[in-house]
Amino acid sequence: MRHIAIIGSGPAGYYSAEAAQKKFGDEVAVDIIDRLPVPFGLIRTGVAPDHQSIKAVSRRYEKTNLGDNVRFVGNVTVGEDITIAELQDLYDAVVLATGAPHDRVLEIPGSDLPGVIGSAAFVGWYNGHPDFKDLNPPLDARSVAIIGNGNVALDVARILAKSEAEFVGSDIVGHALDGLKQSGVEKITFLGRRGPHQIAMTPKELGELGHLERARPVVEAEDFPDIGDDAMLEPGMRKSVNHLRSFLIAAADAEHKPVEIAFDFFAMPIEVQGDGRVEKLIVEKTELDKDLRSIGTGERYELDCQMVISCIGYRTPPIEGVPYEHGRGRFANSEGRILPGLYCVGWARRGPSGTIGTNKPDGFAIVEAIAEDIGSGGRKEGRAGLDRLIASRGIDAITFRDWKKIEEAEIARARSGSPREKFTDIADMIAARD
Ligand code: NAP
Repeated sequence: MRHIAIIGSGPAGYYSAEAAQKKFGDEVAVDIIDRLPVPFGLIRTGVAPDHQSIKAVSRRYEKTNLGDNVRFVGNVTVGEDITIAELQDLYDAVVLATGAPHDRVLEIPGSDLPGVIGSAAFVGWYNGHPDFKDLNPPLDARSVAIIGNGNVALDVARILAKSEAEFVGSDIVGHALDGLKQSGVEKITFLGRRGPHQIAMTPKELGELGHLERARPVVEAEDFPDIGDDAMLEPGMRKSVNHLRSFLIAAADAEHKPVEIAFDFFAMPIEVQGDGRVEKLIVEKTELDKDLRSIGTGERYELDCQMVISCIGYRTPPIEGVPYEHGRGRFANSEGRILPGLYCVGWARRGPSGTIGTNKPDGFAIVEAIAEDIGSGGRKEGRAGLDRLIASRGIDAITFRDWKKIEEAEIARARSGSPREKFTDIADMIAARD
């Protein structure tokens, strides 16, 4: 029997568990440990609440949990309740699938002013992550600056721009919906430090901006390169740029929509200013060098805004004793191997890029590496040892069956038209199990 502990119950964790099941059949016991009492990580608290079709992949992860050889062990914090070293003593392989839940820091003066928020916090707030339920973003802001030109920036802008009716069918949490209903946002500005050909927004997601009920995307013709240059782009990027160009054409028809979503390209924020809260951003115009990196031109402008949301990427939090690559914000690893018996997968391995599906080959590859390293069989005690530690420390671990009860309670309390109303408090999650 091989004993594998996976830390983190998001996509990378579940695809690794599924791969272990497929590779080893009955000869494996996998424990997926999560600090929250509820599973699915990024699917629950990262993927936008109005993207339910993406969230549906959790049904696949649920199937992984049906057999006895995969367990969910929630409400257990590795590094606090149990150490990595203890897990390494108990399991033949310990796989860190902890994702990248911390924001990359916006290192400009004034970024500590109230009203400057990282995307992890803002996304966590509207998705009901217990860590961010009390964020209370300043939704009285009329103008919001969003730093970054990636898909997270798009999610954030769309959520800020949607009408209440556009959230029907979503599982946006009640506190966020109530806040957004009162919001005074009239203008949302994306600040991209490079140009339309360098965006990290994918076509489907960018296309959605063109169909919002009360918001219209606005781009400036002079920011675009010659249309002939689009031919050099790879097909996905070409589609995205086509969407941007279509916003130019659609602008006249959309003028009646009250919320403007402006794309400021070649725009690098260099300072946040305000008296006790954000009042404006100082932005430097940029140009591209021969390697397509942005460099400042010295020309500056001011953007009035009362909230700044930086969507510039994420970092994996370090764990004591685990080698870490500070520059890239992920565990130091060679194709997922960190130390003998210790592995990482998903964003914790390669950094925060790719879609949910990218984690599938990742999970399968790490299980191949584990199979190679363990050989014909494991030597460790596995879950019996974990259960003993959990019991001796009085930890209230949550099983998958418990989670199903929590889920039932969330479904039962959903507002009309919504699939669930998530609990945002850990104590409430645990109480729903009892
Ligand atoms: P991302 O795709 O890496 O985009 C980050 C953006 O921030 C880039 O435009 C980058 O510009 C900019 N940036 C980075 N540092 C900056 C700085 N110091 N100042 C100004 N701008 C800066 O990251 P993400 O949006 O967080 O998304 C993470 C991953 O999740 C991506 O793979 C994304 O596709 C995926 N995702 C997918 C979906 C979906 O499919 N629906 C939804 C959300 C997220 P440069 O290019 O100039 O570095």
